[in-house]
Amino acid sequence: MKTSIKLGSIYGIPVKLHFTLIFIVALIAWSVGANVYMIAELLNIPDPDIPLGLESYLLGIAVAVSLFASVFVHELAHSIVSIKSGFPVEEISLWLFGGVSKMEELPTDPNLEIRISAVGPLSSLGIAFGTLAAGLVAPNDILIFLLIYTSFLNFFLAGFNLIPAFPMDGGRILRALLAKRYSYIKATKQASTIGKVFAVIFGVIGLFINVFLVLIAFFIYIAASQESQNVLIDYALSDVPIAKIMTKDVKTIDPDETIAEFMDKVTTHQHTGFPVVTGNKIVGIITLDDAKKIPERGLHTTRVKEVMETDIVCLQPYDDASKAWKTMTKKRIGRFPILYKRELVGIVTRSDIMQAFQIQSELGKYKGEEI
Ligand SMILES: [Zn+2]
Repeated sequence: MKTSIKLGSIYGIPVKLHFTLIFIVALIAWSVGANVYMIAELLNIPDPDIPLGLESYLLGIAVAVSLFASVFVHELAHSIVSIKSGFPVEEISLWLFGGVSKMEELPTDPNLEIRISAVGPLSSLGIAFGTLAAGLVAPNDILIFLLIYTSFLNFFLAGFNLIPAFPMDGGRILRALLAKRYSYIKATKQASTIGKVFAVIFGVIGLFINVFLVLIAFFIYIAASQESQNVLIDYALSDVPIAKIMTKDVKTIDPDETIAEFMDKVTTHQHTGFPVVTGNKIVGIITLDDAKKIPERGLHTTRVKEVMETDIVCLQPYDDASKAWKTMTKKRIGRFPILYKRELVGIVTRSDIMQAFQIQSELGKYKGEEI
């Protein structure tokens, strides 16, 4: 399902809007529109000349747009510093909880991680002071409201992102600071634990004041666990060649076989996917998910080649298992054909990788380096 629309590109980075953004914009527009006098009082704008109704709701939409423009600048700042430091950024996406800059790889150099992480909150602070100054000299109450409120939101953005919990910038800064004293792996584990503690505290506070906070807490908890798991797996598998963990006796299927024959193979060999091969050449990969798209009556007439995935990613036997893990997570695929001199020599699945990780962590304990 397509859940985002591409808005355009900047510095070669695609900028995407996620559909959940509509809800938050509507929520902000409505809550600002309906409570404009109360907010004005909080912002210290006495007796504001803003008519309640269409004008106040339009002002609400303007606040929502300026909030997301601010989030965008924040993410763009991360992205620019990241690209300039040699770490490509895949995309910037704006969604329910703000923005995310998806990076292909994160730097492990603490100083670089601090620089990339800190520039976001710093840019939010910049916007906060800039809009505050502009708000103090703005000519009418609607503009004053918009600028001062934007300033307030940016102070909040800077502060919120500095919370020392993954995936907040503060969590990354904390990890980098810890990594200056301990190993990267230990620093990640500690930062992730601190992040989880924060998530639990937020969750409990959220139960009493705002359900939205519970959602954010849940999101932080998951992100903290994932971050540490990814780093651990990456570390544990970084010197394990794929050749060591791949299945060498690969069961394959011919592109001209039918889906019914594929289903038979699934039952016989208890694999959920097969490389599709003609001669010695791999031409695609077919999984149960592909086959499920075919209705019952088409099982004997549809050929494997009609439903197989042809855009396949292959790895080499001497690649690191951590590379297989990263590519798997990034492209959301469950198995890789392994080619040597263009010939299929094995296959690696997600469970092969998880098993190798288990073994590596057990071995690590014996060597005294706890993973
Ligand atoms: Zn940030």
